[in-house]
This record gives sequence, C-alpha cells and structure tokens, in this order.
Amino acid sequence: MSGAYESMWKDLGLNLTAHDALLQVLGNAYQDIFITQKDRPAGMDYFNFVMSEVHGLRVKELLDGKKEGRKVVGSFCVFVPEEVVRAANATLVGLCTGADFATDEVDKILPRNTCSLIKSAFGFKLGKVCPYIESADMIVGENTCDGKKKSYEVLNTLMPNVYVMDLPQTKSPEGRALLKEEYKRFKDAIENLCGVKIDVSMLKQGIEIVNAKRRAIHRLSELRKADPAPISGLDALLINQVYFYDDPVRFTDSVNKICDELEQRINDKKGVFPQGTTRIVLSGCPMAVPNWKLPWIIETSGAVIVGEESCVGERGTRNLTDDSANTVDGLMDAIVDRYFQVDCAIFTPNPDRLDHTKQMYGQYNAQGVIHYGLQFCQPYQIESYGVENALEAAQIPTLRVDTDYSMEDAEQLKTRVQAFLERIQ
Ligand code: SF4
Ligand code: SF4
Repeated sequence: MSGAYESMWKDLGLNLTAHDALLQVLGNAYQDIFITQKDRPAGMDYFNFVMSEVHGLRVKELLDGKKEGRKVVGSFCVFVPEEVVRAANATLVGLCTGADFATDEVDKILPRNTCSLIKSAFGFKLGKVCPYIESADMIVGENTCDGKKKSYEVLNTLMPNVYVMDLPQTKSPEGRALLKEEYKRFKDAIENLCGVKIDVSMLKQGIEIVNAKRRAIHRLSELRKADPAPISGLDALLINQVYFYDDPVRFTDSVNKICDELEQRINDKKGVFPQGTTRIVLSGCPMAVPNWKLPWIIETSGAVIVGEESCVGERGTRNLTDDSANTVDGLMDAIVDRYFQVDCAIFTPNPDRLDHTKQMYGQYNAQGVIHYGLQFCQPYQIESYGVENALEAAQIPTLRVDTDYSMEDAEQLKTRVQAFLERIQ
C-alpha cells in the first residue's frame, strides 16, 4: 500500500518513516491475531480489506470528499452525535487511540499516570502518523473524564481545530438540559463548518443513516446468541471498530451481508468454536483499533466472547434515535434522549450499566463476565469494584482485569484468564 499513497501521506504532513513502522506493526499484529483464526466467515474478507486500506483508500475517499466540500469531523467518544454530522453531509470518523506511539514525546507533556487511550491520541498527533487527525476539519473533544477534559486543553495547543463539548455527569433533568444545550451548540458549530442550515429532512436523513448502521449491528448481536458461535468475538469486535470510520452505507450493507452468511451457518450448526465453548461477556473501557490484546488472550484460552458491554459494542450502539418528530427541535430532543441513555462510567451514580451487564450475561447465555479496565482510568477502574461485587452476588462469575496497551503483561493475563475459565467450566 505504501507506494500508492506515499504522496498523499506526505501532503498530509505524516512522518513517512514512523508511519511505515506503524503500518508494519499493525499489519503483523493483524496477520497473527485475525488471519490465523479458523473457519472465519467469508464476509470477513470485506473487513480484512478495510483494515488493509485503513490508512490508504479510506483516507483517499475522505480527501476526495473534501475536494467536493464534504467536511471531516474527528471524535474520541460515542457522545458526539453522528446524526447531526451526517445531516450536514459531513463525515464523522473515530480517532483510533488503541495503540501506544511516540511515548517519549507524550511523557514530556502528560503525566505518566494518564490512561493509554488519552496518551495514544497524543502519540498519534506528536508522532505524525494518523492521516485521520491530519485530514479532520474539526476534532471534537468531550468533557467526560477528568483526564480527557484536561488533556483537551493541551491538545488545543497542538491542533488548530479542537472543539470542546461539555457533558453532564448525572442523569438528572439538569444533566439532560445541559446535554440539549451542548448538542444545539454543536449543531450550530457543524452548520458553520459546513456552510449549511440543517432542516428537518436533512436531520431525518442523518438519523436514518446512523440508525441503519445500528440496526445491522443489532442483527449481528442477535446472531451471536447462537451456540456454536457463528463468528468469533475478535471478528465481531473488529466490525464494531470499523463502525467508527467506514462509509456508513457501505458498512451497513457489509454487516447485513455477513449476517446473511451467519444465519446460514446457524442453520447448518456451523461455528468458529465447538458447541459448548465457554461464553464470555466483556465489559468496561472501549477497545479502539488496534487494541486486540485481551480478546485475543481470551479466545486463545478456550473461550468465545459473545458480547461487549463497551462503547465499541453495545453501550455505543444499542439504542436507536426516534425519527418521528417533524421539527428540528423535536428531532434534536430525540437525539438528546437517545444519547442520554449511554451509561458511561463518567455518570454518577451509574446503575444502568450494571443492569445492562446482567442483562447481556443472560441474553447471550454467557458463563462469565470479564471486566476490562484501562490502567489509570478512574471512572471504570473505580466502578469495577461495585460491578464485580454486584455480579458475583448475583452468581455471575466475574474476573476484573486492569491493563494497558503494552504486551508486557500478556503471559500473566493469560494465566489469570485460564484460571478464571477453569473456575467457570
Ligand atoms: S467510555 Fe465514556 S468517555 Fe469513553 S467513549 Fe464511551 S461514553 Fe465516551
Ligand atoms: S479510558 Fe477512562 S480515563 Fe481513559 S479516556 Fe476513557 S474514561 Fe477517560
């Protein structure tokens, strides 16, 4: 891929040597973790292709779109309402934040005890290796955890186009009012960026595109309830990760196609793991590309992941936006109602997340929950104590894992995961 896109990356200001090294590591990891899996659905070929072109063709599409006036908006959080961005005919892309890069440079700017996700965003910017960051016309930061909101003050000095969105911390009427005001302010900012005024039909179309994408993921989730599992947790995670940067209409078609294939597999009782394989729900911090370590450890230890209680998973996609209102304000209310249900650990208290995790455990016929906390992530690490206790009290075996993006603890994690699986088997 490198030869064909070199001038594009150069024009974006990437550091070509560092970028080549990143692609090399990414390609090797993908080969070792994904391609070596057995009996993958044929429909995963599309996602292999997307991954192989993640810094190539997709970026070229975005840049071609920009020449026609289509703006690119980057985000780090599922609270950024994609419906509003689509309504203005702009493209929303998730900025990966799933790997360490330029750590020496990052450590000069951020405290060492900052979570890997935040450090990753800085590393990709400082290392000049992310074509999405460099293509974006606006980068939306959100005031969720303290780490993010303070780091956006610093990021603002490194990028000219950071837009900060405030977010509530409680599920109260005042919290909802704050979210509504912030979404209105965001709509104004998007309208200014794109030079359009969003009307009812534009907003309805934005909602329809994003809802269709979510419905396809709901269909996939439903099929993962089967035993034997028709698709691995790793492949399902990859689909959930690609959700954030692929063209939404093409993505929806590709997920529906793979679902047709999975339905056939279920009819034929064909799975990626034998029937009766231990089934795990993964819960906790989001796993952005290329953060595949823990799922890979779980699925090479004799279990299958059947659902993700995560923003790269059901927390991010489970609710649809009601499109029945016939005014812009009514539709904006529906968007606020939809996002206000997201049960991120930044909310206090946050009982919905626990209920949802229990619900997923039952619905996916799981035998255990593995809670994934990123080191130095206060919201999820602190919440994990209560989650583990409540799940165990409800007779749901739970393993709490705190880790980061390095591979140093891989062996130790594998031993803990294997011991947990022995306990529940
Ligand atoms: S975990 Fe919270 S802060 Fe992170 S992406 Fe999800 S909603 Fe946003
Ligand atoms: S993983 Fe935790 S600390 Fe890191 S950005 Fe997300 S909520 Fe904040």
